[in-house]
Amino acid sequence: MPDPPRPPKRATKPRDGVVGPVDARQIPRYAGLGTFARLPQSGEVKKADIAILGVPFDAGTTYRPGARFGPQAIRQASRLLRPYDPALDTEPWSTQQVVDSGDVGANPFSIPEALAAIERDIARLLAAGTRVVTLGGDHTITLGALRAVHHQFGPVSLVHFDAHLDTWDTYFGASVTHGSFLRRAAEEGLFLDGASTHVGIRGPLYSRQDLVQDAELGFRIVHCVELDTIGVRGAVERIRARTGNHPLYLSIDIDVLDPAHAPGTGTPEVGGLSTRELLALVEGLSGLNVVGADVVEVAPSYDHAEITSLAAATVAYKLLSLLALSRS
Ligand code: MN
Ligand code: MN
Repeated sequence: MPDPPRPPKRATKPRDGVVGPVDARQIPRYAGLGTFARLPQSGEVKKADIAILGVPFDAGTTYRPGARFGPQAIRQASRLLRPYDPALDTEPWSTQQVVDSGDVGANPFSIPEALAAIERDIARLLAAGTRVVTLGGDHTITLGALRAVHHQFGPVSLVHFDAHLDTWDTYFGASVTHGSFLRRAAEEGLFLDGASTHVGIRGPLYSRQDLVQDAELGFRIVHCVELDTIGVRGAVERIRARTGNHPLYLSIDIDVLDPAHAPGTGTPEVGGLSTRELLALVEGLSGLNVVGADVVEVAPSYDHAEITSLAAATVAYKLLSLLALSRS
């Protein structure tokens, strides 16, 4: 078994004036109001480098509902996080000002209105120089985030961790759902040619054509089962080669994890990644030009002992580290 990929060590210096989270050695981590990692809210600081933004929305889901409760469950699980990440040699909320910007008031009865609100809120943050890690919500919300990122940065490379392609066409005539939003995003020209990758794809499809059409839209796939042969290191190499130095949007559907590692999700699919594999894959992307990221599809009603929300909170923490490294 080869060593897992580790990025070059690159210590980042704590910055003066940064307001960090409540110190768990002074006030118990289970006490106090539950912002992400007990970080300050956006109103408590002058300017934020990075904002955590919740999107409690699940009207685009096709099977189990409940991802609207994802952001609060992830925040609750994030109480366990600590300031220093040895794997990436980062202190993501000491070297940059990270805040919790609360939730988007997404309309639960209108997908277009919800997406407009998501796009507006994220675009406003990006225009102020704040990068955003979004907590879903079902995967539909990523379309709003991608549109906002497109305003600011133009077309991006997408790295999409998911059991599912999310490039199906319609469900019941609806064109924007959590299973079809990526086809819409590709049709809207939100991605660079030849630069986007799905990672962790597995499970049955509607037809052979699903894979053909997905490739025609410009995506390439690291199938979940390929991890058995190329390993985390091989997968990281393929993703990095395809992304290059392009602006990168990272979208992580928590169902990329095996249901043993993430039971609390809307569309579980067996044969998935372990949490350790996902963390190593995300760590392997350090140094890339990350301009936005999200963790979606946590549906806490089906969770046990916060397994899924803890995985999502830790992945979000890694995303903060990647953003810290891409800006330092
Ligand atoms: Mn999925
Ligand atoms: Mn998805």
